Amino acid sequence: MTFQELNIIPPILEGLKKANYSKPTPIQEQSIPAVLAGRDLLGCAQTGTGKTAAFSVPIIQLLSQGSKQKQGSPGKQSDQKVRSVRAIRSLILSPTRELAIQISDNIKMYSRYTDIRSVAIVGGVSQRVQERALQQGADIIIATPGRLMDLVNQKQIDLSKVEILVLDEADRMLDMGFIHDVKRIIAKMPNKKQTLFFSATMPPEIVKMVQTLLVNPVKVEI
Ligand code: AMP
Repeated sequence: MTFQELNIIPPILEGLKKANYSKPTPIQEQSIPAVLAGRDLLGCAQTGTGKTAAFSVPIIQLLSQGSKQKQGSPGKQSDQKVRSVRAIRSLILSPTRELAIQISDNIKMYSRYTDIRSVAIVGGVSQRVQERALQQGADIIIATPGRLMDLVNQKQIDLSKVEILVLDEADRMLDMGFIHDVKRIIAKMPNKKQTLFFSATMPPEIVKMVQTLLVNPVKVEI
């Protein structure tokens, strides 16, 4: 199986080539077609399996193909005073800064030859720098729950147009006490969206979340 056979578009194939990915890993083979078909996904996979590309490659592709509602093409004069020139269309939530930055670096690599823009929103670094990046416009945000909640409360980030949500390492977010923030963040998003949910374990609280969040998910286990 090749990425081409998974119907990945040429600009993303270029990015994957640059990243030296010659063929998809098993989780990528299983997840990419399901996500491209618009399905919800429930993944039980550890880091190290190629999980990041399994969700982010099809997200980049869906957003670049479905750019019909893209707002404010860069450079348009009238957009310059608007705080957010492009609505956030995909949100990826991660339990730790390190993981969020790793996901963000990978997404930048895969999307390098597309016009998709991504921004990492994590604690411990200057909020001003992140605000400036957001003002340039972002399609995808990769965030830890705390800093994201701050920026949402300050109306720097509008989640009302999110089309695709990823919860990565959901069980760790639960363990780290983020589940409350995660639920409040989800409440700011439209009900109708595609959700990709990853968790290495399935404690009762996580099972409950899966049941309320996912609609007829494709299950992927590695
Ligand atoms: P992840 O599970 O997403 O953290 O990925 C683990 C490592 O495998 C990372 O260094 C990725 O860059 C790498 N990787 C992911 N997918 C592929 C692939 N299809 N071919 C080669 N390396 C990959």
